[in-house]
Amino acid sequence: MKKLMWVEQVELNLKSSSKEQLINQGYRAMKKAQVLIVEDDGIIAMHIESQLKQLGYGVTAKVASGEEVVEKIKENKPDLVLMDIVLKGEMDGIDAAEIIRSRFGIPVIFLTAHADEKRLERAKLTTPFGYILKPFQDKDLKVTIEMALYVAKADKERKRVDDNLKDNLSFLQTLIDTIPNPLFYKDIKGEYLDVNRAFEEFYGKTREEIIGKTVYDMGPKHIADKYYEKDQELFQRREKQTYEWKVTNAAGETRDVIFNKASYTNKAGSVKGLVGIISDITERKQAEESLRESEEKYRSMMEAMDDAVYICSPDFRIEFMNPAMLKRVGYDATGELCHKAIHGRDEKCSWCIHEEILKGKKVKNELVTPKNGKTYHVSNSPIFHTDGSISKLTIFRDVTETKKMIEQLQQSQKILSIGTLAGGIAHDFNNILFPIMGFAEMALGDAPENSPLRNKIEEIIHGAKRARDLVKQILAFSRQSGQELKPLKIQLIVKEVLKLIRSSIPATIEIKQDISNNCGLVTADPTQIHQVAMNLMTNAFHAMEGEGGVLAVTLKEVGLGVDDFTDPSMNPGTYVCLSVADTGIGMDQITLERVFEPYFTTKKIGKGTGLGLSVVHGIVKSYRGDIKVYSEPDKGTVVHVYLPVIKSRFETQGTEAVIPVPKGTERILLVDDEEPIVRMETEMLERLGYDVTERTSSVEALEAFRNTPDKFDLVITDTTMPNMTGVQLSQKLLEIRPDIPVIICTGFSTKIDDAKAKEFGIRGFVMKPVVMSELANKIREVLD
Ligand code: ADP
Ligand code: MG
Repeated sequence: MKKLMWVEQVELNLKSSSKEQLINQGYRAMKKAQVLIVEDDGIIAMHIESQLKQLGYGVTAKVASGEEVVEKIKENKPDLVLMDIVLKGEMDGIDAAEIIRSRFGIPVIFLTAHADEKRLERAKLTTPFGYILKPFQDKDLKVTIEMALYVAKADKERKRVDDNLKDNLSFLQTLIDTIPNPLFYKDIKGEYLDVNRAFEEFYGKTREEIIGKTVYDMGPKHIADKYYEKDQELFQRREKQTYEWKVTNAAGETRDVIFNKASYTNKAGSVKGLVGIISDITERKQAEESLRESEEKYRSMMEAMDDAVYICSPDFRIEFMNPAMLKRVGYDATGELCHKAIHGRDEKCSWCIHEEILKGKKVKNELVTPKNGKTYHVSNSPIFHTDGSISKLTIFRDVTETKKMIEQLQQSQKILSIGTLAGGIAHDFNNILFPIMGFAEMALGDAPENSPLRNKIEEIIHGAKRARDLVKQILAFSRQSGQELKPLKIQLIVKEVLKLIRSSIPATIEIKQDISNNCGLVTADPTQIHQVAMNLMTNAFHAMEGEGGVLAVTLKEVGLGVDDFTDPSMNPGTYVCLSVADTGIGMDQITLERVFEPYFTTKKIGKGTGLGLSVVHGIVKSYRGDIKVYSEPDKGTVVHVYLPVIKSRFETQGTEAVIPVPKGTERILLVDDEEPIVRMETEMLERLGYDVTERTSSVEALEAFRNTPDKFDLVITDTTMPNMTGVQLSQKLLEIRPDIPVIICTGFSTKIDDAKAKEFGIRGFVMKPVVMSELANKIREVLD
């Protein structure tokens, strides 16, 4: 276009159209062309100048040498230079023309009168516009000048267009190389026309290695086939194409990518090829995947939670509820106002802590719901969103059970301390009972056969024995009595208890017994087994006291598996099962739940202590046994006690037969810090024939023994005494006379058992309150 316009302008110029018309059209070409004359002959120069002016050209300057012309051109830029080839000075016309052309891009026409061939050849090379031989006609000059101007102008324009194109192409290349995604274009045959830098990097191949190749040159055929198929699809449909793909990059990694491709057409509208861009979405996919995973994790956590959870937006709308919350509210209230959905209120709740949460605080509180009487711990915390907004996360934890358990724990701790207290009292009580029983026994011995006193004394002894049993119960319960564990055939004891019970319960109660004699041995304390059987049968008797009924006692060996126990710490194996069943009043569920509670009783004051079953429970558990109670109101009750059987060849010790009280004449040193006990024991021992030296302090006793150690055959000492305990005293005595037999008399002892006593050199110990026969037997056992 531009070229055409230029030709038109030249033509216009040549036709010398009206000046105004041309100026209006704004063509620079219509200005007078300015010519610089380089001629060393002044006259010729002047002549050329007037000639040019006549032809309508302007003359900027006339110079005479090559050096001058460069200066002048800088000053006023001419459109053309008329140059004499032969010049005076260092530089000839051809050299000067070279500079003008290359440096300033101004056309040069050589003027020559007598140029030699060689020079003319050089001149032709330098300037394409030729030369004019002097002298020349106006017409020749004009034509030559116009030609030169035209060609120069056309050249300039072409150069401008070329530069522009080059600029555009380099811009385009920079642009596509700057794109961080791999980019490519192919022709319709599928040959790569070009790719960008990102593409080179992604596949680890250079442009040169790719251009002209097809996908078949780049990878295995089965993969190339798929690419080919996709390209064909695009070419046929002539639209854009987007799809996900897996590709292997330069590092050999499989990447998830998206291909975005579009076909391009020529002017005629037929498809010429395609452009494609690749987006690597591997990281995005991984992020999506891990987001999905973590969402899944939180979702299942929320679903598995027993705690009710919901999230509330700043404007009080429920954004999320977990299933536990849904159950609490009764329906899915997502999107609803929280005070409406959760508390059934139209207005914001007065206790609402939403604003605290919006300040970023955490708020915890306890809530008792009147509806179901449950206690919840409510924890509210803010959830900070990326857009700066805050939601409220609320978790309701039902702590009703926990609170109940804490209360129970506190209660049982109270009971524990009562137990300790009771143990202490029982100990003192023992010391009071001891002389009562002792003196009563002696008084009975003293009373004549037919004395009316005998009955009364017997009542005293009976009462004292009952009191002693009660103390034993309390001590057993507070675990302060020493256990005498040994392999035991408990059937003997059970039979003994049955005999006792038979004689003390009315005939309206029938007793059925089924005691297996083949039951294995159980490690137990005979007194405690006695107590267990006694307590169970007493309860059964009490339950049937009004109406009568059947008391059924069975004892047999059973095998128990894991499922048979209520207590998971029990071991499967062989057990001896003692069952005591009655047809009495039975128990309701509430009573049944509390039977093992110490001091729980439904009986009248004086009849029930509430300790029976708790003692049984304590004993059975200490033998690693189990206990089960079944009961129905008005139907009756059955209690099963399971005790683990040991495989032992030890002979069992049955209940002791009644033997006459043995006597002796040995010399005994008796020590107890309590006066009445000392007095009573002294008399008891003297009656048995012994020679007694009494002391009421361990220090005095030691003194007496040290003075005449050989004067004594036996020492009987109390345990708990001020200054020096019975054990310490015994040790001192044994230092003086290692063979002196010592019996320790104790109220209760957690510190001393039989084995330990023997270790100290102590021969035996008796439990307070001792009865005469017991003491008498123990003395003979030690001395003989
Ligand atoms: P106590 O017999 O002194 O009341 P226990 O610990 O032996 O204390 O028993 C606690 C309570 O359990 C009794 O008061 C009674 O209510 C209930 N109970 C125990 N055994 C039976 C039974 N065989 N039949 C009905 N109730 C029983
Ligand atoms: Mg009882």
